[in-house]
Amino acid sequence: MAATPPLLIVGASYAGVQLAASAREFGFEERIVIVGDELHAPYQRPPLSKGLLTGKTGVDQLQLRGPGFFEQNRIELQLGRRAESLDAGARTLRLDNGDLLDYGWLALATGARCRPFARPGAKLDGVLELRTLDDALRLAQAAERTQRACVIGGGFIGLEVAAALRSRGAAVSVIEAQPQLLARALPPAMSAYVANAHRRRGVELLAGRGVRALHGEQGRVAAVELDDGQRIDCDLVVLGIGVLPNAELAQQAGIAVDNGILVDMLGRSSAPRVLAAGDVANMALPAAAGVPARMRLESIQSANDGAKALASLVVGREQPCTAVPWFWSDQFDLKFQMAGLAAPGDEVVLRGDMDGDRFSVFHLRQGTLVAAQSVNRPAEHMLSRKLIGARAAAGASQLADKSFDLKSLVPKMAEAMAA
Ligand code: FAD
Ligand code: NAP
Repeated sequence: MAATPPLLIVGASYAGVQLAASAREFGFEERIVIVGDELHAPYQRPPLSKGLLTGKTGVDQLQLRGPGFFEQNRIELQLGRRAESLDAGARTLRLDNGDLLDYGWLALATGARCRPFARPGAKLDGVLELRTLDDALRLAQAAERTQRACVIGGGFIGLEVAAALRSRGAAVSVIEAQPQLLARALPPAMSAYVANAHRRRGVELLAGRGVRALHGEQGRVAAVELDDGQRIDCDLVVLGIGVLPNAELAQQAGIAVDNGILVDMLGRSSAPRVLAAGDVANMALPAAAGVPARMRLESIQSANDGAKALASLVVGREQPCTAVPWFWSDQFDLKFQMAGLAAPGDEVVLRGDMDGDRFSVFHLRQGTLVAAQSVNRPAEHMLSRKLIGARAAAGASQLADKSFDLKSLVPKMAEAMAA
């Protein structure tokens, strides 16, 4: 009897590994094969822009799963192998070594890659991007020598790298094209706080400024030239200008793609038995006022929760992904934690002390808590995730009042407290 074709996963990172782990946990008994084009065993990305650069995290601490995990769970890893083409009709995947793999289910967990920087000088030595462990090792080495760094892009990569380099004593300038930092992720009040926090810690911020060219001396970067002609001398340039989803495999196979692979809340693409999760997936969101129909969320929580939904599908116990999005960022002594999806027009309420770097910003939409950003307030962040998930009603004055117990807003907790 022919063997049942496996659950085949492309991408050996958060979404791919979580899918394999959850499928086994939920009782999936068939073969699971993960194909990944990086040579390293699956590893954690967050420390690459934080602890690995400051020296607080060693390379040996980056493993995504403990030793023996893949063998114990009968998950076959094919590392250093790239999936080159997909035939969704024949249900086969071609690898770069010519192997043709068939599948029962195919999951595309191919993530994202750095957006290319199309300016003169982009190929000079000392101009680095950051997505992979290999990128991070190059950057960590450069960080040891740099005196004067320019970071292009004021998103999470840019700001985390700026904080790490500044903490090591380098002079750092961040150049951001938008007038506001972290414009995609944060509302204006929070962006203004982040800008202030960086300035107070000695980072030079140039927002609303474009880059015309990078200039070198003997093949090595020596200056950044801005659109208005200003030149900033530097010995290192770090690019943090966003990512592009690795959706080409799907696109070439005729699967619907629009800023990522279009999938429903179970991760199903437009092709039968082809699924997607993580940074590459443009996943449908539960309907709610002010929330878009779908979104490509670039975070570990989204990769993990999306992958769990896929796992539920392959074992026949469908649990669509309806999780509240959340993520975090560490910059200097500041722990940012964000939950929910904010939108322009939300009522914004401050609780705590921005100047003291300990506060939360809550977003209310029609009297319901929909999003929150916390700085050095982990308990408030955890509670906001519960409150947002429960679609809890809240009043602006309650949220702003530090003596008001937020726990009383969680519906079940409130009942338990009253009993
Ligand atoms: P990825 O992690 O991008 O993995 C996809 C994998 O698939 C890669 O190994 C890729 O090489 C491989 N691949 C692609 N195409 C093919 C192919 N054709 N064949 C075989 N393999 C292929 N998020 C947070 O929530 N918090 C943080 O603090 C945080 N910090 C971050 C710091 C850094 C430096 C970076 C780069 C990202 C950070 N993120 C953070 C974002 C987070 O890492 C991503 O959201 C997450 O990695 C997405 O997981 P993924 O599995 O979808 O994709
Ligand atoms: P990002 O969050 O998209 O931010 C990139 C920023 O750079 C955007 O504001 C972008 O503006 C700007 N930009 C683009 N081109 C520019 C140019 N030529 N000059 C100046 N600014 C320019 O992406 P990122 O910071 O590069 O991060 C990459 C990925 O890693 C994202 O998926 C991110 O979520 C993830 N990450 C997450 C964390 C975390 O969650 N803590 C930490 C690190 C990385 P436009 O929007 O106008 O293009």
